[in-house]
Amino acid sequence: MKYKCTICGYIYDEDVEKVLFKDLANDWACPACGAPKDLFEPLEEKTVEINEIESANDMEEFSYLELAAIFSNLARGSEKQYKTAWQQGFNDLANYFTNKAEKENTDNIALLELLKEDMTKYYPSLMSEAKDKGDRGILRALTWGEKVTNMSKNLLERYLKEGPSFLEDKKIYVCSICGFIYVGNNLPNICPVCKVPSFKFVEIKEDLK
Ligand SMILES: [Zn+2]
Ligand SMILES: [Zn+2]
Repeated sequence: MKYKCTICGYIYDEDVEKVLFKDLANDWACPACGAPKDLFEPLEEKTVEINEIESANDMEEFSYLELAAIFSNLARGSEKQYKTAWQQGFNDLANYFTNKAEKENTDNIALLELLKEDMTKYYPSLMSEAKDKGDRGILRALTWGEKVTNMSKNLLERYLKEGPSFLEDKKIYVCSICGFIYVGNNLPNICPVCKVPSFKFVEIKEDLK
């Protein structure tokens, strides 16, 4: 049996490792990206169902904060693709919605609520739309966005569950290209999501504890 990391695609092969996946310690983490066990999925069950696509009308349900997050992800994706005009446009949109959200008296609690909400549900319809239009650049940006969103959600859940001790003796890095967050002490050589070299990572030194 093989298991795949949903964040970076790393494959855990029980035949090679000689240890059943279920027997791995609970704090075992993906050797490539640091994702925990519960972000792995069995490889066989990988069925991609794009039938239940929500309609594009769901766009109307985005909050300002969600729109700001999505557009800033798209801006980062465009930067990686050297689409400077797009990057500028997406950044303008992100700023516009950030301002609107701030006027709505948004605080950090709202941001935490947003992160707790399952933003991954928006990705299938956006991705199928990008596929329909043959837009590979956007498709790639969305693929990164989905992985980074999964990982961020998971980190937040662990932080909420374990409290500040979750961050004890660990460093925090953010990929400046795709937004991937790495918590731990063995920063991978390349970003597991967007594949840029690790010098593109920024260490976050602010005291969160
Ligand atoms: Zn991984
Ligand atoms: Zn990255």
